[in-house]
Amino acid sequence: MNHETGLPWRNLNEEVDVVIVGAGATGPVVAQELGRAGLSVVLFEAGPYWEVSRDFVSDELHMRKTAWRFHRLTAGSDAPELGHNISGSGVGGGTNHFTAVVPRFFPSDFRTKTIDGVGEDWPITYEDLAPYYEQLEKEIPVSGPKHYPWGGFHGPYPYPAREPVAATHQVLRIGCEKLGIQSSVAPLAILSAPFQGRPPCINRGFCAQGCLPNSKFSTLIHHIPRALDAGVELRHGSMVHRILVNKDDRVEGVAFLFQGKEYRQRAKAVVVCASAIETPRLLLLSADGRHPQGLANRSGMVGKCFMVHSGHEVVARFSEEILPYKGTPILTTTQDFYESPGDGSRARGFSIHAHGSRPLAFMKIVTKATGAWGRHLREMARDYNYFARLTIVGEVLPQMNNTITLSDEKDEVGLPSPVVTFSYGDNDRKVIEAAVAMCKQVLEAAGGRVELISPDTSHMLGGCRMGSNPTDSVVDGWGRCHDHKNLFLADTSVFVTSGASNPTLTAMALAWRTADYIVQEFRAGNL
Ligand SMILES: Cc1cc2nc3c(=O)[nH]c(=O)nc-3n(C[C@H](O)[C@H](O)[C@H](O)COP(=O)(O)OP(=O)(O)OC[C@H]3O[C@@H](n4cnc5c(N)ncnc54)[C@H](O)[C@@H]3O)c2cc1C
Ligand code: SF4
Repeated sequence: MNHETGLPWRNLNEEVDVVIVGAGATGPVVAQELGRAGLSVVLFEAGPYWEVSRDFVSDELHMRKTAWRFHRLTAGSDAPELGHNISGSGVGGGTNHFTAVVPRFFPSDFRTKTIDGVGEDWPITYEDLAPYYEQLEKEIPVSGPKHYPWGGFHGPYPYPAREPVAATHQVLRIGCEKLGIQSSVAPLAILSAPFQGRPPCINRGFCAQGCLPNSKFSTLIHHIPRALDAGVELRHGSMVHRILVNKDDRVEGVAFLFQGKEYRQRAKAVVVCASAIETPRLLLLSADGRHPQGLANRSGMVGKCFMVHSGHEVVARFSEEILPYKGTPILTTTQDFYESPGDGSRARGFSIHAHGSRPLAFMKIVTKATGAWGRHLREMARDYNYFARLTIVGEVLPQMNNTITLSDEKDEVGLPSPVVTFSYGDNDRKVIEAAVAMCKQVLEAAGGRVELISPDTSHMLGGCRMGSNPTDSVVDGWGRCHDHKNLFLADTSVFVTSGASNPTLTAMALAWRTADYIVQEFRAGNL
């Protein structure tokens, strides 16, 4: 096969069992499982097929190429910054430049309506996902502590925690200890010992630029080779722009653009794993005379209840060198404030991670938070080694007015651009306020002087949420669209609530569960 173009294609003129759209964090998990079950599968990816040793370099600017780069618009009073910080492109998607923090969601995340009277309950429970979490943690594998203090899983993780931790992570540990708060080494999809030819982490700190030694997990280096071995056909550089549906509401395949030309691929089932912006966008793009509001959208819920995590950053200066570029960006965490405090001040909560910085990312935070320039900016750059940063992962509640819609403006391939509209709600702001105050206390307890606080967001979730009721959700608890028997969604778009944990392990666990269900349905002759 030609690695640059993916040509020649094997199955273009055949009806395959399953087409998967998107080879990011979730699509390759589905592809691996369906391929292993003997189904014929074509996996589409809009971006390139990265080759780690050739394409990944230790350079912050150069590696922005791993982000989704097609034109997007934002709106709302807290319009999120898109680009490198928010979504990936190319085989591996967001996992190429994510920081690989992989905690599980808490059991209460699936029941916020019942427990806290906010958000919605998921149609599944933590226990439904627990076996998939466990399988993934072993398969990737995840390094973490022997005892994890919070949530529904307390360790031990399959690979040992990475100790000692760099100074930037010690800051969180010391601050928490002084305040009587629990902290822990974070579970990471980063090796602490060799695994299947991959070496342990060498602490160069370029995880968000793509890990050159392959110590950090990505689907590019893990699931994709296994999916290809199982016979899956990968078509990269191919942007799916329409899901094809017949008069019985059965999906028949997809139309895609490759080098400016349109092609079609027939399939018995389609699984969309294109991310929380691109999945609702593709359903909306697939509108036709019979589905004027887009596919899977009889409820009107496609594109609704889009969520991010609040990701404020609190930076303090220390009198001794911290060297924030050392080690993996995140290595210590506290989830002590994850759930509702019970005093009525707010519902749900946040995690706090110690977060190293590379120089350009750090200077971006400085300019954004302070507007510094000239001499002041030079002084901050000079003192870079003396700063430590904590970031929050704040729960954001689902709201109908946070949406993905289509614009009249076109993107680089001539498709209507998505518009991401986002504003925080009152409770979201209370969570941020409490989280920022706690970050300040921790940094000060560790001996730092807080110099800047920068608002930010991370992670994209929701937009096609799951639910048992077809009038207020897009897919059921298996990821199957209520309106189309053979159309499945298996990515971060199906999240009902955001939790306050980094979401990718949960998204991959959901994807694996959906893949198992699809195999069962094929075997039962239902697809
Ligand atoms: C800088 C950064 C750090 C992060 N750190 C963490 C972390 O530490 N822990 C964590 O849990 N999460 C982290 N995340 C988030 C994580 O990357 C995402 O949650 C995850 O990648 C989402 O998975 P997904 O499959 O929904 O989408 P993606 O991984 O974005 O995959 C979607 C794929 O589909 C492709 N695609 C989209 N539309 C089409 C189309 N129409 N046709 C064909 N292909 C298409 C895209 O090119 C992309 O490759 C981080 C993200 C970033 C950007
Ligand atoms: S710090 Fe470790 S995981 Fe991150 S890029 Fe370097 S070797 Fe890879």
